[in-house]
Amino acid sequence: MHINLRRGATGFVAMATAVALVLAQPTPASATSPDDVFAKLLVKQVTGAHAKQHLNALQSIATANGGTRAAGTPGYRASRDYVANKLRKAGYKVTLDPINFVQSWAENSPPTLTQTAPNSKAYVPNEDFFTFPPSPAGDVTAQVQAVDLTLPPAPTPSSTSGCETADFNGFVAGRIALIQRGTCPYATKVRNAGFAGAAGVIIFNEGQPGRTDAFTVDIGEWRAGIPMVFADFAVGNELAAAPGTTVRLKVDATLKLGTDHNVIAETRLGNPRNVVMVGAHLDSVPAGPGINDNGSGTAAILETALQMRLYPVRNKVRFAFWAAEEIGLLGSDQYVEGLSAAERDRIRLYLNFDMIASPNYAYKLYDGDNSDGEGSPAGPPGSAQIERQLANFFDRRGLGHVGTDFDGRSDYGPFIAVGIPAGGIFTGAEGLKTAEEQALFGGTAGVAYDVCYHQACDTTTNINATALDVNADAIADSVARFAFNTTAIP
Ligand SMILES: [Zn+2]
Repeated sequence: MHINLRRGATGFVAMATAVALVLAQPTPASATSPDDVFAKLLVKQVTGAHAKQHLNALQSIATANGGTRAAGTPGYRASRDYVANKLRKAGYKVTLDPINFVQSWAENSPPTLTQTAPNSKAYVPNEDFFTFPPSPAGDVTAQVQAVDLTLPPAPTPSSTSGCETADFNGFVAGRIALIQRGTCPYATKVRNAGFAGAAGVIIFNEGQPGRTDAFTVDIGEWRAGIPMVFADFAVGNELAAAPGTTVRLKVDATLKLGTDHNVIAETRLGNPRNVVMVGAHLDSVPAGPGINDNGSGTAAILETALQMRLYPVRNKVRFAFWAAEEIGLLGSDQYVEGLSAAERDRIRLYLNFDMIASPNYAYKLYDGDNSDGEGSPAGPPGSAQIERQLANFFDRRGLGHVGTDFDGRSDYGPFIAVGIPAGGIFTGAEGLKTAEEQALFGGTAGVAYDVCYHQACDTTTNINATALDVNADAIADSVARFAFNTTAIP
């Protein structure tokens, strides 16, 4: 405590001096607001060289732990401790937020799906239907209720059965949900069924040519806590044709959950009713040390947090280092799910940084306003303004930038799903650099942005130093601006 106070006092002097220096420089009238002053200061303080030191530390952690920092491994726990210790020493309020993941799953005996009333008919396990790993065990006999089915099926795959919570309006809790394969992930359908009080879930293949058989597919979702199976189209069609049918659904499996922790660090100052959240996933894939994916985002937001530790922020800034992103956004998803409605409302925006130093990089900004008109729609109101603010940084430096589809496939997904605006930077993964991007950023067109994506070679040599430096600055700039001013966000 005593040492921290001394450190704090010294730091305050250093910061006051730095602020005075920034203020003493001749500045245009537009550059005198605190957000501008502190953004300029933080951009100076956050360097690629400092971020690189965190990458070296994460690499050492991986090397000492079998070459990985994946969920559930000692390498992840050492990464967690590294980040948490740095933030605690810097004076942040640090919380280790427990989250669950599937440690192991095994099916003990084949599943059962049998019509029990009005007729009796048993379906053939592992032929007519399969258990969805990692289904919890369960043995339930209940009436089947169809959920927004399209029968006969549309000519092309398009069913949204179970994709929207509204599909379950009128669903009677305790029944078994009968759902059709379609446009959204199986996991989404199962979660929605769970929220609606279903006692079990049967999803059946959609019915177009090539989409009729049952098969086994791990959906990475278990939290509904109910047995779930995937049936062929014929089974689903038959059950749907006889409303009121009762079935017995049984899954005999052993599901073991493990626990990891998100590291959450919050500034002690700032309005707690106006929270600016900044996140990066801390885990790697099992195959490698994950230095670009996502040591790079981790290092940049960690260094940003450390350098701004004494800033008199107006808004509370909350840094999140997510666990288990690579196995299904589990850390961020469970975090958002655990928030009360009031806690969600206080989060004004979320910034996400997942891969910011790809060796064959492009500066890609999440297309929050859907100006590219590609893939997913625009993000919640405010997402466009976040994209604009990030773009301003690159524009001021005369650097190019392009959009990247706002598809929710990183930790911002759970935030935008509950209406929290989000944005972020991405330098590319396994996709190939375009000729246009080569003209803008250099590098090599036709080659992956990150040739070591999700591989053992994603080491400290898999980092582009320029991209790391520029993006660390871009992150510092945006975090500082939002820490003092969120009026741009509706
Ligand atoms: Zn990642």
